[in-house]
Amino acid sequence: MKIIAGNWKMNGSRDSLVHMVTALQDIDSKNTVILCVPYTMLGVDGGRVAIGAQDASAHDHGAYTGEVSANMIAATGAKYVIVGHSERRQYHGETNDIVRAKAAAVIAAGLTPIICVGETMDEKQAGKTMAIIESGVRESVPNDANNNVIVAYEPRWAIGAGLTPTDSEIADAHKLIADTLTSMGLGDTPVLYGASVKGTNAAQIMSIPNVDGVLVGGASLKPDDFIPIITSVK
Ligand code: PEP
Repeated sequence: MKIIAGNWKMNGSRDSLVHMVTALQDIDSKNTVILCVPYTMLGVDGGRVAIGAQDASAHDHGAYTGEVSANMIAATGAKYVIVGHSERRQYHGETNDIVRAKAAAVIAAGLTPIICVGETMDEKQAGKTMAIIESGVRESVPNDANNNVIVAYEPRWAIGAGLTPTDSEIADAHKLIADTLTSMGLGDTPVLYGASVKGTNAAQIMSIPNVDGVLVGGASLKPDDFIPIITSVK
């Protein structure tokens, strides 16, 4: 069984979410399906689809205008929160330390963080891919997480670009992440691959060792694109 998570980013509406979850109710799949949507869509009943958010404050409550706490997200019925997505790291300056604090707040609220790590094109070209991935995991995943986390490997240069690493690059990255999590006492943590996943490459990517599912951006917005990804693996 795999985990198929969609990241709607700043797209969609409550109506389009209702349309999507309705389309997903009766699909022939036992895979775990998650949709991480903008805050304004939280509270929609996902049925067999778990609903998640895309960020959470590191703080519980207080004078943090514009922020939303993990407890507030939990109160909507959501179960997951993406933290440390590359767009948060790129546009909002989120560091591994900030991501770890947010992930800890998410866990404390009883939710599961989907913690994203991955290298930029500059880091890849400088031969730093493995070092960035390992430090990303060690510094972004709370080490008392007690397996209540999901990690997503998202090569930042490939997101939304229609590019994917080679199978052996994905295999190497996921082996390193699995080994690193094991050394942190978090060996049962699922590790997702994300970046330019679509119906035509999902099954192949999920056949790579240590790939426990996928995190999907653009192709999670429409049932015709998302359903083939979910049903591509049993
Ligand atoms: C993402 O933003 O998490 C992502 C994987 O995007 P895409 O699938 O569009 O590359």
